[in-house]
This record gives sequence, structure tokens and C-alpha cells, in this order.
Amino acid sequence: MNDNLISNNLSRILDSIYETEIKTFGKKTGTKLCCVSKFHPKESVISAINSGQLLFGENRVQEAYEKFSELKKSYSNLDLHIIGSLQTNKVKKAVQISSCIQSVDRESLLEEIEKQCSKIDKRIDILFEIHTGEESKSGYKDIESLELSIENFLNGKFPHINPIGLMTMAPFTDDEKIIRKSFSYTYKLKDELNKLYPNLQLTELSMGMSGDYKIAIQEGSTLVRIGTAIFGERNYNV
Ligand SMILES: *Cc1c(COP(=O)(O)O)cnc(C)c1O
Repeated sequence: MNDNLISNNLSRILDSIYETEIKTFGKKTGTKLCCVSKFHPKESVISAINSGQLLFGENRVQEAYEKFSELKKSYSNLDLHIIGSLQTNKVKKAVQISSCIQSVDRESLLEEIEKQCSKIDKRIDILFEIHTGEESKSGYKDIESLELSIENFLNGKFPHINPIGLMTMAPFTDDEKIIRKSFSYTYKLKDELNKLYPNLQLTELSMGMSGDYKIAIQEGSTLVRIGTAIFGERNYNV
């Protein structure tokens, strides 16, 4: 996709985000855009940077590492979030290149992130991924294991980790009611966790992709993750 198309798509999405905020809340609420560049070449990322976009999301660590470790040399304020399910053996590279891991879904992953961050003396943001889609496997399996992770964090087990919110992927369906339910559930869960653990400050809600970001914003998303609507369809054969 060329420069112009990406630039137009970006401003169209940003306008649409603002418009949804105004319609829903009567004012701009500052929803952030994480531009998902997986399967798209470095050149597409550069086009987006040239249009003012600095936050990107990738879900495969090796691909992200190759693309972004180089880009970061030229663009020092570039910011990358890891958004896809993360194998333990990929954590070392993941923490090197990203400022936030949005897809934390188990205690053992937190332990590895802590271990790798302490080695390079880095503090990293994370989001707890909440399982709200039947067919997807990602996300904490149950609230008890999520609460255990939170309690371990509050007890000082993860000094290099900064939990800042929740993330979810809505089920793959055209049924708006089901999608909305996934987002409103995650919103309520964040509220409940903040009440239950006053020392925890979960502020971010990463919800919404190309097909459902408007619903997500209406349900309180603070961070949308959008790929296709900006970069076009992904070619999974490359
Ligand atoms: C790919 C991906 C997105 C972006 O999806 P689009 O439909 O292309 O906007 C968002 N979140 C996650 C976790 C993804 O893997």
C-alpha cells in the first residue's frame, strides 16, 4: 500500500475515533491508537510514522524484532506494544523491543517477563489479557488465576513490571450484542479490580480492532488496536 493511502486511512480512522467519542460522551476522551503492522513491511510503518503515528502493535516477536529494532535507530520516539499470545522463549526479545506487553495471560509469563526485565534493568508496562471470546484461546483462563497474579504483583513479586490495565479480543462474530458484551464485561472487571485492590491502578482498556473499534470506544476503550483499516488486508503467505 502506498504512502498516500496509509496517510488517508490513518486520518480517516483518527477522525472516526474522535467522532465516536463526541457522539458517545459529548467530548473528546483521548482514545489512543495502536497501529497494528503485523505482516506489513517496514515501509508501511515508515509511511504511518511520516503521518505522525508513533505507537505500533505487533503480535509475532521475531517479525517485530526484525522490523522494529532497525526502525528504532532512525526514529527514537517510536513505541511498540506486543499484542499477540507470547511463548515463554520469546520473552527476552519481546521485552527488548517493546514498552508494553498487552497479552499477558498467565503467571508463568509474568515470571519470565520479570526475569528478562531484571537482566536488562528495564521496567515494562503490561496489560492483563481477559478471555471473552469462546473460540480464542488467549487470555487468563479464570478470574482466580488473574487475582493470584495481581496479589503476587502487589506483594512485590514483579518489581520490573507495571500493570496498567486490561486487554481483550471480542469474539469473531457479526453479532453486535455479543461483541458489546465482551467489552462491557472487561470494562466492569477493570472497575471491580480497582475497587478490590486500591493499590492497583488499572487505567488502560485495550479493546477494539478494525471491525469493532466504535463499539469498543462506546464501551470505554482507551486504546484501540487497528491494522486492516489502516494498512489494508494482510497477506499471510509472505
Ligand atoms: C491483528 C490484531 C489486531 C488488528 O486487527 P485488525 O482487524 O486488522 O484491525 C488487533 N489486536 C490483536 C491482538 C491482533 O492480533
